Amino acid sequence: MALPRLLRVLPRALPALARALHRAVPGVPDFNSFVTRTNTCGELRSAHVGQEVTLYGWVQYQRQGLFLILRDFQGLTQIVIPQDEAHSHVKKLLSSAPVESVVRVTGIVSPRPPGQENPKMPTGDIEVKAETAEILNSSKKLPFELKDFVKKSEALRMQYRYLDLRSFPLQHNLRLRSQVVMRMREFLCNLHGFVDVETPTLFKRTPGGAKEFLVPSREAGKFYSLPQSPQQFKQLLMVGGLDRYFQVARCYRDEGSRPDRQPEFTQIDIEMSFVDQAGIQRLIEGLLQYSWPEERGSITAPFPSMTYEEALADYGTDKPDTRFGMKCSALGSLRLGSADLLEAAGLVLRDPAAFHFLWVVDFPLFLPKEENSTELESAHHPFTAPHPSDAHLLYSDPTKVRSQHYDLVLNGCEVGGGSIRIHSAELQRFVLEKVLKEDSEVLSHLLQALEFGAPPHGGIALGLDRLISLIVDAPSIRDVIAFPKSFRGRDLMGNAPDYVTPEELEPYHIQVSWPLEEKEAKQN
Ligand code: ASP
Repeated sequence: MALPRLLRVLPRALPALARALHRAVPGVPDFNSFVTRTNTCGELRSAHVGQEVTLYGWVQYQRQGLFLILRDFQGLTQIVIPQDEAHSHVKKLLSSAPVESVVRVTGIVSPRPPGQENPKMPTGDIEVKAETAEILNSSKKLPFELKDFVKKSEALRMQYRYLDLRSFPLQHNLRLRSQVVMRMREFLCNLHGFVDVETPTLFKRTPGGAKEFLVPSREAGKFYSLPQSPQQFKQLLMVGGLDRYFQVARCYRDEGSRPDRQPEFTQIDIEMSFVDQAGIQRLIEGLLQYSWPEERGSITAPFPSMTYEEALADYGTDKPDTRFGMKCSALGSLRLGSADLLEAAGLVLRDPAAFHFLWVVDFPLFLPKEENSTELESAHHPFTAPHPSDAHLLYSDPTKVRSQHYDLVLNGCEVGGGSIRIHSAELQRFVLEKVLKEDSEVLSHLLQALEFGAPPHGGIALGLDRLISLIVDAPSIRDVIAFPKSFRGRDLMGNAPDYVTPEELEPYHIQVSWPLEEKEAKQN
């Protein structure tokens, strides 16, 4: 190609070339494929000067009819509103676009005049001189300001969640969550041969453990349950020979919300055959190291381990926060709450940037249902295997039996838990019927499966919402869930749960006996 022609073609070919190169860099996504924008609002630098670009974004703010700041998930770009007669239409449009309107701008990337660079903005060396523009959707005044520093009420944020999602912290949290899960999949499936299997969310009641949500069925008096975890299914998958299972699993517990809980949540659910406790622990350490976001430093493994007994004696809790330089026993009878006060008073040191993982092991297999009660319940769940050296005590003194249950604690929060399972039908039946006094009939399918060549197996579940909220240092798991429920378990945006009519209830053979206030509310 002759040189003059090359010089003419090259500038036009550059964006396509850049995109092709982009695709060639593994791990760097192309945010501009399949769409008519050429760049995101966080992308342009001095190297782009002279290029014609098309940006789409929301109006962050507008200054004296001269500038407009356009925002998308990736950043902010300064748009120069043209002042000349030839562009009067563009000028009128851009200087009247309300804040949060969606706008398309096409223009030329230019260096900012000397002295007007903004070193705080990644795009602060350039601006885009608008040539054409279009308002794609003009915004009404928002019910709250999106700016990160403006405090808004939690209820309002929930009601207009789609607006709150536009804020940089939420964008960051959800994108980081997605990346961590992606890396987890890579580690489990590509590097270690795990199989991602979906299990049903309409199932039946599981004895013991958390309270489950019921779902009515068309068979009179019969209900499904939403599983509190895929526990039974993952064990049955082991019997089925899928010997390395994992799932990003939605779980449901009807326990009322707390700051770190909500009725539906997500677990990284894992099960393996032919594995022992140490094997699961090394797997999780490797998984977390591999998926740990670079921006949060790195974590070292193996994680320290502590027995349940040591944790209670030294820290007064089975979820010790080992960031404190001092054990609670060294503080006399002071417990964790007091350590917070001492920290506030500058008497103990806690490293805010540090991530202290800890395994807590050797839990008792059973705990009294209530203080001083002789009735027992599982410390983890009824499928947990006894510690091999204590198994003989199961028949004489079950309260003395330790289990093969392990919890993973991060900075004083439980982020995971699991166990090696019982794989003998006889032992499982004994635990259910004789120790826990449960009706084993509800679990007959599982007991039966254990009689058909069930391999030894074990697993774990990581609480994804809680893990991510600790990684990004968010005060609540609601800050890492796109559409969370309120403290009371309500969806304040769509207003769920909601009333249904008697006609809608009829196929389910259900009638509601309305409390008076509800009845009045419904009629109004
Ligand atoms: N299913 C258990 C839970 O949800 C975890 C496990 O034992 O793997 O806590």
